[in-house]
Amino acid sequence: MVNLYPWLTPIYHNITAAFSQGHGHHALLFKADEGVGAENLVTATAQFLLCQASRSEEKPCGRCHACQLFQAGSHPDFHVLAPIDNKDIGVDQVREINETVAQHAQQGGNKVVCLQGAERLTEAAANALLKTLEEPRANTYFLLQTDVNATLLPTIYSRCQAWMVASPPQDTALAWLQQQPVVVQSAEKTDEILTALRINYGRPLLARETLAQGLIEKRREFLRAFWLFYQRRSPLELLPLFDKSLILQQVEWITAFLADALKDKLEIRDGWICLDLVRGVRQFSEKQSVQGLLEANRIMQQMRSDLTRITAVNQELILLDGLTRLITEVFCPESDSGRAD
Ligand SMILES: [Zn+2]
Repeated sequence: MVNLYPWLTPIYHNITAAFSQGHGHHALLFKADEGVGAENLVTATAQFLLCQASRSEEKPCGRCHACQLFQAGSHPDFHVLAPIDNKDIGVDQVREINETVAQHAQQGGNKVVCLQGAERLTEAAANALLKTLEEPRANTYFLLQTDVNATLLPTIYSRCQAWMVASPPQDTALAWLQQQPVVVQSAEKTDEILTALRINYGRPLLARETLAQGLIEKRREFLRAFWLFYQRRSPLELLPLFDKSLILQQVEWITAFLADALKDKLEIRDGWICLDLVRGVRQFSEKQSVQGLLEANRIMQQMRSDLTRITAVNQELILLDGLTRLITEVFCPESDSGRAD
C-alpha cells in the first residue's frame, strides 16, 4: 500500500473507521496545502475503498486482486479526474466520468473517482458533478482534493464531507525529516532542518526538497553576500547573484532575515525563521532601529509583490530599485550613527 506519512495516519484512521463502521460518506473533500502529502492520503483512501478485504480492517490488505490491480495502476474501477495540460476541468470530462460510474463496477466492488484540483472545475463542469453528488449511487465514492485557500462552489462543498489536511506539528515534521536519506547524507544539523521547515511554512515535503537541493547552504551564501551589500552599500554587487529560477525565494530569504532582525529588536523569541543564523541576525539587528527594520520589511514586501505582478523583463529594475531603497531609506548614515567599525 502507499506509504502514508506519519502525520497523515490519524486522519486516515478517522476516515477508514467511518467506512468500517458503515457510515462512510460518498463524497470526501480533502483540503490541503501543497507539500503536506495529501495526495498520499487520497490514494490510500482510494485503495482502502477498492480493497476486497479491507471492509473490517483499517488498511488495504495489499494482497487481494483489487489491491494488486490498484498498485499496478490498472484498477478498472478507479478513475482520475484532473486538469489536462493545466487547463480547467471541462464539462465533457465530468460527463464522461458520470457515464462511467453509472455502469456496474467491473470488479464487482466499489468505484472510486479521484478529483484532483477540484477548484479547477469550470462552472458547467461543477454543475454536472453536482448532479452526480446529489444523487449518490451505491458503491460509488468521490474523493475531491483542493487547495486549502481555493474557493469551491458552495453547493459542491455542502455535498461533501470535508477533511482538512494541515501541516504537522514541528516535532513530527522534524523527526520525519531527520530520517530522510537526502537529509542524513548531507548531515544537516537540527537548526538547518528547522530553518528549511520554517522557510516552507511547516510543510515537510517542501522542506525535504529544500534540503535535497542544497538550498539552505545556497541561502546562507546569498545572505552573506547580502551582508556585504549592506556593509558596502553596493546594489550592483548583489544584483548579479540573483538567480532567475530562484528569484522569489531569494527575496524571501532576505525578507525572513529582516523580519527576524525586527523580532530580535522587539525581543520576540517565537516564530524565527533563520534558526541557523541567529548570531548573524542579532549582529545585524543591533545596528538597526525598529523604524528602519519596519521600513525594510515594507520595501521587501513591495519588491516581492512587484516581482510576482510584472513581467520578467523588469525583474532587474525591480530588484535594483528595492535594494537602492534599502540603502537610502534604511541603511542610510543616520540609522547607524555612532556605530564603530
Ligand atoms: Zn486488498
